[in-house]
Amino acid sequence: MKSIIRKIIEFFLPFYLINSGKINKVIKNAAEGKIILSVFFHNPSKELFESIVKWFLDKEFHFISADDLYEISIHKKAFPSKAVIFTVDDGWKENKENLVAVANKYNIPVSIFINTDPIENGNGYWVSYLKYSQETLGTSHSVASLKKQSDSQRKNIVSQLESSIELPREAMTIDELKSINNGKISLGAHTLSHPFLVNCSNEDSQKEIFSSKEKLENWLGTKVETFAYPFGSFGEREIEYVKSAGFKMAFSTVADYITKENIGALYKLPRFEIIEHASLKENICRMTGVWDETINLMKKNKSI
Ligand SMILES: [Zn+2]
Repeated sequence: MKSIIRKIIEFFLPFYLINSGKINKVIKNAAEGKIILSVFFHNPSKELFESIVKWFLDKEFHFISADDLYEISIHKKAFPSKAVIFTVDDGWKENKENLVAVANKYNIPVSIFINTDPIENGNGYWVSYLKYSQETLGTSHSVASLKKQSDSQRKNIVSQLESSIELPREAMTIDELKSINNGKISLGAHTLSHPFLVNCSNEDSQKEIFSSKEKLENWLGTKVETFAYPFGSFGEREIEYVKSAGFKMAFSTVADYITKENIGALYKLPRFEIIEHASLKENICRMTGVWDETINLMKKNKSI
C-alpha cells in the first residue's frame, strides 16, 4: 500500500513542485549569487542529458568547470550568479555519444570521474554482475548487502561472480578516454575497483585513491586533480589520503547546494544526483534540490 501511495506521489509531485514556485525560488537564489547548482550523472540517455542542458540554457544559467569552482573557492574568481557544474561518475562507454558529444555541441565543461578497473580489464561494472546474478541465478547478493561487509569480502564475492558470468564491456577504453580528454571535458579519478572506501583497510583505501590517480595520469599524459568518492563513501581518513595524493578537490554525493559557506570544504563538495530512469520533470526537481527537501518534509510529517 505504501509503495502505491509513493508511486502516486512520485507521479504527481513533479507537477506540483514545478508549479509551486519552489523552483523559481531556487533560480532566484542562484541569480542572486547565493548558490551554485552541482549536478551529477552516471549513464544518461542522450535525450535526457540534452534536455537537462537545454533546461539550464533556457533559464540562462552558465556552466562552470571544476577549475572554475576551485578558483571561486580560493577567491580568485567571484562567486557567480546562475552557475551550474556538471560531473559524471564511472566512465560508461555510452557517455561518449550520449554526453560528451552533446557537451561539445553546446561547448559546456564536464568532469568525468573514472573507475579504472573496468576500463583496464574490459569487464562490466561489479554492480552489473550482482544484478545479473540476482535476476538470472536468484542469488541474494545486493549492493546493500555488500555494503555491510568488509571490502575483502566484497572483492571475493565479485571475483567469484566475474569468473562464472560473462558480461560485455560497459566502460570506455583507454583510447576512448584519451580521445575525449580535451577541451571542455576533463577527467578525474574514482578509485580502481569502486569500493565503499570506508569498508577498506587503511592500505587498500590509500591504494584505491593513489593508484587510480597514477593510472589515469599515465594513460592520459596529463595531471589528474579531481576525485569523486564511489557511492559517496568517505570519512576523515579518505579526505587525508585524497589531499596527500595531490587532488585539489573531491566530490561527495551529499545532496546540497554549493554556497559561499561550504565551498571552502573542497574535499566534500555536494552534488544532486540525476536519476536516469526518472522523468525530466522529476529530475528538474531533483537537480534544483526541491525534491529531497519535499520528500524529507513528507517523511518527517509521516505522510509517506
Ligand atoms: Zn561510481
